[in-house]
Amino acid sequence: MSSLRDAAIARDVADPLARFRAAFSLPAGVIYLNGNSLGPPPGTALASLAAVATEEWGQGLIGSWNSAGWIEAPTRIGDKIARLIGAKAGEVVVADSTSVNLFKLAAGALSLRPGRRTILSEVGNFPTDLYVLQGLSALTPGQARLKAVAPEALIEAIDADVAVVVLTQVHYKSSRRWDMAAVTAAAHAKGALILWDLSHSTGAVAVDLGACRADLAIGCGYKYLNGGPGAPAYLFVAQRHQQAIRSPLTGWMGHAEPFAFDDDYRPAPDIRAQVTGTPPILGLAALEAGVDLQLEADPAQVEAKGAALAEAFRAAVSPRLEARGLDLASPAAAADRGLHLAFRHPAAYAIVRAMAARGVIGDFRAPDAARFGFSPLFLSYLDIHNAAEHFVEVVESGEFNRPEHQVRAAVT
Ligand SMILES: *Cc1c(COP(=O)(O)O)cnc(C)c1O
Repeated sequence: MSSLRDAAIARDVADPLARFRAAFSLPAGVIYLNGNSLGPPPGTALASLAAVATEEWGQGLIGSWNSAGWIEAPTRIGDKIARLIGAKAGEVVVADSTSVNLFKLAAGALSLRPGRRTILSEVGNFPTDLYVLQGLSALTPGQARLKAVAPEALIEAIDADVAVVVLTQVHYKSSRRWDMAAVTAAAHAKGALILWDLSHSTGAVAVDLGACRADLAIGCGYKYLNGGPGAPAYLFVAQRHQQAIRSPLTGWMGHAEPFAFDDDYRPAPDIRAQVTGTPPILGLAALEAGVDLQLEADPAQVEAKGAALAEAFRAAVSPRLEARGLDLASPAAAADRGLHLAFRHPAAYAIVRAMAARGVIGDFRAPDAARFGFSPLFLSYLDIHNAAEHFVEVVESGEFNRPEHQVRAAVT
């Protein structure tokens, strides 16, 4: 037992990313395996929020739109995120939420493929992705319809009526990872576009949109980018589509000249056409700190460490708990998954609550998955060793059966 602990400590000593842990503000006594759902605050994010609020807002007032770089923040931070996902400067902008960006880009994809009516996705995709696509279909009766198929049937379902294939690269629950290059090529072979949701990819696994010739992408700011609760999201439109794509949300900040105050909408000639309204400056300040920190880390080291942490956890837990009804619900091979793991158990909710009571934070995804994320920047191998021991003790002792662990909270 202690030899495993010593091995974990030795891996921490050799960890090239170990220095990043000190950059985060985390409560003492907590092992946070939920950075895939809400990343913790970088210390620089907290400092930046305070400075932007008290100085730029409090002292600079409206002049800060010009003097503090507020108006350029969506494209400035977009250019930084571009470097994390293999995009070029000018191909990414920060705006709205992931849900809203999906609506804009899925509608935009239909505008790029007139005559094609199908939006293709997979059953079991993240709910907001399916709901937004259902809503878009309902708005355009006879013109667009969502077809959601099982993942095994997806490639075959790409036909000449498919305008766009919409997939989350790393599945929010199972962590199953699509081969981005292969699926993008399959869509293009049938004349369809691809729209990737990178919410569980960016800041976790290496992404190269340019090398894959991906068309469109969206993603979340508050998971592995550590941008804060409800952080603004980002979107990517490949340069070659920017002239032709049309946003359905033609707000003034997407106008070619917002401060001309024209009555008639004229889209900006570039990625700014995908911005809708006034950028949320406080949210952007926190997100930029998270993105800046991520840019300091080598993406290959990030993915390798996250995969190693996940594998260490799986190896410590799975063999000991299989007989107790716990199943790995994620792919067995690291190359086929992202940086979180899901385990199925009939009492998964209570197990997650019992672990949280011991300071090990994961989350629950209905109906029966306990989910744990392995953020490489702030977790250590010793954390993983300790978390796995807690998991095994909670399940083996039946501690999760206590009544207080059965009560469902609004957010699981
Ligand atoms: C987290 C997540 C979102 C979040 O969407 P919001 O608009 O921020 O609520 C969307 N899609 C996927 C796949 C996600 O994992």
